[in-house]
Amino acid sequence: MSPRTTIEDVYAQILARNPGEPEFHQAVREVFGSLDRVLEKRPEYTEASILERICEPERQIIFRVPWLDDAGRVQINRGFRVQYNSALGPYKGGLRFHPSVLLGTVKFLGFEQIFKNALTGMPIGGGKGGSDFDPKGRSDAEVMRFCQSFMTEAYRHIGEYTDVPAGDIGVGAREIGYLFGQYKRITNSYESGVLTGKGVTWGGSLVRTEATGYGAVYFTQHMLATRGQSFDGARVLVSGSGNVAIYAIEKVQSLGGIVVGASDSSGAVHDPDGIDLELLRDVKERRRDRIEVYATERGGRARFVPGASVWDLDGDESVQVALPCATQNELGEEHARTLVANGLVAVAEGANMPATPGAIRIFRQAGVLFGPGKAANAGGVATSALEMQQNASRDSWGFEHTEERLAEIMAGIHERTAETAEEYGVPGDYTVGANIAGFIRVADAMLALGVI
Ligand code: NDP
Repeated sequence: MSPRTTIEDVYAQILARNPGEPEFHQAVREVFGSLDRVLEKRPEYTEASILERICEPERQIIFRVPWLDDAGRVQINRGFRVQYNSALGPYKGGLRFHPSVLLGTVKFLGFEQIFKNALTGMPIGGGKGGSDFDPKGRSDAEVMRFCQSFMTEAYRHIGEYTDVPAGDIGVGAREIGYLFGQYKRITNSYESGVLTGKGVTWGGSLVRTEATGYGAVYFTQHMLATRGQSFDGARVLVSGSGNVAIYAIEKVQSLGGIVVGASDSSGAVHDPDGIDLELLRDVKERRRDRIEVYATERGGRARFVPGASVWDLDGDESVQVALPCATQNELGEEHARTLVANGLVAVAEGANMPATPGAIRIFRQAGVLFGPGKAANAGGVATSALEMQQNASRDSWGFEHTEERLAEIMAGIHERTAETAEEYGVPGDYTVGANIAGFIRVADAMLALGVI
């Protein structure tokens, strides 16, 4: 980037060179929106074309994933791994298995991951991967054959010191097990540190399953504390009912909050007396069923609204905290307006980019505390880094110790984000704080490593 090239010029180049990837454009736009303040102070970033380099993945791998379904028919999916930036450590980021996954989806997630991982202060670079495979309705044997085929290609590109995938939407303990099994078989080595999110009896870390949801709630606690508030007695809406949502609900309830709604891709449940978490877990985790079954079995005042988003439910009552934990762009402007009108105090993104730019604008104008995903959901990847530490030292830590580490990391992220926002003249703006703090750490490492 020549000294006269502006952020807008770089963004225009990105649009031209990456057509048809709106989520990726949105993620870049959001980060760029925070960076003019830094580039003014640090012209060396512009001279070294850090912006152009940070937006271009180091490597993008796309491959065919053929597998046989239970009827013996050949199925073909597409696999992706985007190795985005390894200035701070091996590429690190999850795999998403969902029919909506395209290259642009993986690039948006990988781009976010660079700054999130930097913000944790841990030695991990950014990457992401996945497939358009839909695990819904597939038997365990089909999921296993798909995972084995995926890994038969992916194993060449990953490794403890190269690239360490984990879970995301559609990839939980079952999928990580099949993926690790195939990696172990092909490479003939028990390289525990190649994947995180493993089962605790075979190299996983305690608290990894809970970490993203718990971490998002810790982050919210710190935000609320800046206004002298807490979860105690707060009414809370959580979207999704997967890994992040379930453990966010658990932590909110343990802190005295009342979670009055949750959802899945089929619709939303309103439960004004507070979600029965055991029942929700039984329906969603153990039975892998639809959330409607929860409302039917719960009875009482619980009701299921087919096709609705959990954010449509808020017309019914006031909530103080919103935790979007399902997927990108799920919470739009209209939702934000209703939430604000009904007394919302704080939002923390358990999911990646769940609030649209318009919704974020409304939250900001209304003075709602807003924790962006890069900061609020970083507890998952931070605990993955703790899993890598345990694997490297052939050790396994207890639950309490690991949870304490997670709590410290989230406190550190909150502090770093808040201090950076203050330093750059936008106190309380966690988005700017997270973007700048993450960017500076990666950019400084990139400068030190030369043009590579
Ligand atoms: P899961 O697959 O466990 O759960 C996802 C939940 O969101 C499910 O309830 C799913 O519904 C719902 N959902 C998914 N897509 C849609 C959609 N298009 N519309 C409505 N609902 C949808 O995934 P996770 O909980 O792991 O991930 C949730 C979010 O958190 C993602 O944005 C992910 O990137 C982010 N994240 C996850 C981390 C982790 O450690 N797992 C770490 C950091 C961020 P259904 O059951 O019907 O599929």
